[in-house]
Amino acid sequence: MTTTEKSDFIREIIDEDLRSNKNEGRVHTRFPPEPNGYLHIGHAKSICLNYGIARDYNGKFNLRFDDTNPEKEEQEYVDSIIEDVKWLGGDFEDRLFYASDYFEQMFQYAVDLIKKGKAYVCDFNGDEIRASRGTLTEAGKDSPYRNRSKEENLDLFSRMRKGEFPNGANTLRAKIDMASPNINLRDPIMYRIVHEGHHRQGEAWCIYPTYDWAHGLEDSIERITHSICTLEFENHRPLYDWFLENLEIYHPQQIEFARLNITYTILSKRKLLQLVREKHVDGWDDPRMPTIAGIKRRGYTADSIKVFCDKIGISKKDSTIDVAMLEWSIREDLNKNAQRAMAVLNPIKVVLTNYPENKTEELSAVNNPENESAGTRMVPFGRELYIDRDDFREVPPPKYYRLSPGTEVRLRYAYIIKCEKVIKDADGNLIELHCTYDPATKSGTETANRKVKSTIHWVNAAKAVDAEVRLYDRLFLKENPDEVEEGKDFLSNLNPNSLQVLKNCKLEPMLGQASPGDRFQFERTGYFCADVKDSKSGALVFNRIVTLKDTWAKIEQKGKK
Ligand code: ATP
Ligand code: MG
Repeated sequence: MTTTEKSDFIREIIDEDLRSNKNEGRVHTRFPPEPNGYLHIGHAKSICLNYGIARDYNGKFNLRFDDTNPEKEEQEYVDSIIEDVKWLGGDFEDRLFYASDYFEQMFQYAVDLIKKGKAYVCDFNGDEIRASRGTLTEAGKDSPYRNRSKEENLDLFSRMRKGEFPNGANTLRAKIDMASPNINLRDPIMYRIVHEGHHRQGEAWCIYPTYDWAHGLEDSIERITHSICTLEFENHRPLYDWFLENLEIYHPQQIEFARLNITYTILSKRKLLQLVREKHVDGWDDPRMPTIAGIKRRGYTADSIKVFCDKIGISKKDSTIDVAMLEWSIREDLNKNAQRAMAVLNPIKVVLTNYPENKTEELSAVNNPENESAGTRMVPFGRELYIDRDDFREVPPPKYYRLSPGTEVRLRYAYIIKCEKVIKDADGNLIELHCTYDPATKSGTETANRKVKSTIHWVNAAKAVDAEVRLYDRLFLKENPDEVEEGKDFLSNLNPNSLQVLKNCKLEPMLGQASPGDRFQFERTGYFCADVKDSKSGALVFNRIVTLKDTWAKIEQKGKK
């Protein structure tokens, strides 16, 4: 018996199955995306769950494309999904499958059901099927085609396959019970006619299986033991079971869990597609998108996503996770692992009037205070520096301890400086600050002990590297983006300031070596990642992954009280 350290209701089911030797001790899960869009963080939860179970129980994990609907599926999505599953560590080894490869076998299974008198060809169109299905309180009505002979059904079904009928002319339906209290069992459709090329099968088929018919067959063919899906399929489970029981083939167990919802975030593929198509964002991998591609480009690590998925756990009840928790997970990771650096995003020039003209000093800076083995680096100091505009106020508000005329601050890893003079142009715009430095206050020396209230970051003006920095914020203004005024849709909740581009940023020289995808903490500012698409040596572009402000810790504290 294998039991894992983690426990949840799905693992309890598996433990019990192992105790009773239900599947000869096998554990085999799958992740079954439809290739009709990019994967998002909700799918990550499903991948981590399914792969995590296979890993922990020494079982197997399949990646299977549920590519049964030719109208919406594309190779681009297949490729991106494979990449994203691998990035998340979902190791399917050589088990990459396509439901469309099972079409012939599914067809044979349908023939079996017809021969058993449990499926029939119905000439109703979509409207007629809907109208005869009944409601939650009212039974449906039998189709007049329900009692066709097996021979007639076999003939019609094979002619459907041959393409003799146009789209919508008829369907193959399971013969179950039009009065079932579960509407899914009221003679559900198994095949529809769709004259449309398929991304893998080309023109081979013009009848396509429905999800309900196909999914259990796919699981059965692959000998999946535990078919884990989201709660909306709970009412479909009796149908899943009916098909497998009546075909008398290997019968996996469907288990449902609650899907992931996150505040300020849309996780509907249809709506994400709309954001891309209508260009509200810059593609599927826009760093504001909750897609794996977007999150990855933003700078999230795969580890942080896994930690997040672990921490939220699984349940049988729908709930919404605070986006602050996702942000917490990347901060946790990068706080431990990201190299620190100094970067001035909104520069103002500082001239140290008492510092020698051509002198540069190399000062030692800590690479990561959380990790001593990361060591130190040298940063060049000199007469002309940049500091952040926000670290200076000509008229300081109460309790403002950073730089203002006549006051002192410490420059991180360097000296205490005092603002002596504010230089402006004819229109009164701030051009630069003239300051003096106190040579006795060099960081790391004994005389550096003199205290001032505030320490700010800076870069050497002559040695700084230029960069564009993209400050990303939440894509939606509302906690629930689907909560809208009448007549409006979720787009009305888009945050118009979700991207702010700063073109004139000044970075410490070390950052000039950053490769695309490298992550840093810009001290006092946030965590940043060199953009994998647009950042090049000599034309650096950094994405803000997340600010330093951890709101999750506070939320968690409150919850505990
Ligand atoms: P649709 O079926 O409407 O195209 P989908 O998001 O369900 O959208 P699938 O490709 O069917 O897309 O999803 C693949 C798997 O991921 C399914 O098993 C599904 O249950 C799971 N999944 C999808 N969304 C979430 C979510 N928000 N949280 C957890 N699991 C999810
Ligand atoms: Mg789905």
